[in-house]
Amino acid sequence: MSDTPRIHLGSLLRTSSDAHAEGNLDHLSYEQGGAEQTLRFARLAPFEADVNSLGGEEMYLQGHFEPTLVMECARCLREVEVPLEIKLGTLLRYDPAAEAPYLEEADTGEEILVFGDPDLDLSAYLAETTLLAAPLSVLHAPDCLGLCQVCGHDLNEGPCEHMAQVPVEEIDDLLGTPEGTVHARQTPFAALRDLKLPED
Ligand SMILES: [Zn+2]
Ligand SMILES: [Zn+2]
Repeated sequence: MSDTPRIHLGSLLRTSSDAHAEGNLDHLSYEQGGAEQTLRFARLAPFEADVNSLGGEEMYLQGHFEPTLVMECARCLREVEVPLEIKLGTLLRYDPAAEAPYLEEADTGEEILVFGDPDLDLSAYLAETTLLAAPLSVLHAPDCLGLCQVCGHDLNEGPCEHMAQVPVEEIDDLLGTPEGTVHARQTPFAALRDLKLPED
């Protein structure tokens, strides 16, 4: 079971009443650079969000999100569960011209989530906050031995014939950051942040 995390802001926009949404997610799908990305959770991740009108087109969202992110051990690529407790808080602004929700920096330096569909899809925002809260890399155990650089054997399960040739410390340097490691800078909004907009 998984819902797309949506919060319905239509009546808030019409009458300034408050809005509330909650649910459980087993994954988050979002778009990044035209490609569909997925964050997988080890168990149902509860989220809760309340939105209050600040007058006009502006409102404030606050809530909680508690995903247990599935990451890969940086050395042996084994799955590691990373439980996160995230406090949500962001300004929102309704702009009918916005096709997909995006983050914008206000004059005060605060971030504003701008959206055009009153049926606001929080997927990209929740994915962004999850990736920012997650560590850059994790080890499944502090003394993980990693994979053999030559044959890919998981050295946690015992040595292989190449062990005599490549000392463990060097294996670690050679491995570097494996593909598939969740990286906090690859967030849905990162590309937008890097965009240099012409000043007027
Ligand atoms: Zn490992
Ligand atoms: Zn080997």
